[in-house]
Amino acid sequence: MSEQKTVLIVEDEKNIVDILRFNLMREGYRTLEAYDGEDGLNKARSENPDLILLDVMLPKMIGFDVCRTLRQEGNNVPVIILTAREEEADKVLGLEIGADDYITKPFSMRELIARVGANIRRSAMISASSAETSMPVSGDLSINTDSHQVYRAGKAIDLTQREYELLTFLASHPNKVYSRVDLMEQVWNYGYVGDDVRTVDVTVRRLREKIERDPANPVYILTRRGAGYYFSV
Ligand code: CA
Repeated sequence: MSEQKTVLIVEDEKNIVDILRFNLMREGYRTLEAYDGEDGLNKARSENPDLILLDVMLPKMIGFDVCRTLRQEGNNVPVIILTAREEEADKVLGLEIGADDYITKPFSMRELIARVGANIRRSAMISASSAETSMPVSGDLSINTDSHQVYRAGKAIDLTQREYELLTFLASHPNKVYSRVDLMEQVWNYGYVGDDVRTVDVTVRRLREKIERDPANPVYILTRRGAGYYFSV
């Protein structure tokens, strides 16, 4: 690793923190730890980590509130939520409040390290790739790729980082249909996807709610039944 990256671990179970710290350090990461939500939020603000591993059930402030607060403050640090169980509601809520990813406990360390790496690389790629300024898009939708701002009829639309990436990816390949597995690989940078393709559906639904006039009858991001999603022009 050319430049050492810092991972902030926000988790109240000390044995999990110890295992995470050990494995992340072995992979060349610097780690910071916080054992409650308030301290996690403070360290996220003051230490500027490259990624946050965020437990949900935490003393003082739950993980969802930590993530929501950071996003409200305009902080786009990649956040991976650590969910205690395979709970659909937790995953959906996590993605809706702007988390980039989630991983279910008990997790395989190999999987977690892969996700940490993928999310840090993706975030670095985005900050480096602001060469193109404006993307031709459909109807009254426009994207400024310098400011990462999306407009509909001249009105700014507030998207999460992931929603923005999904939209720009699809819009830059108009009318090409991508399966959910394709999108997991291209937009989420995952080699292994398993049943996580549901993440794509949730993100598409959120995106439609924001960019479409009538989310139930979308005109931009369309579904090709049994095949996937595409940006229609
Ligand atoms: Ca906990």
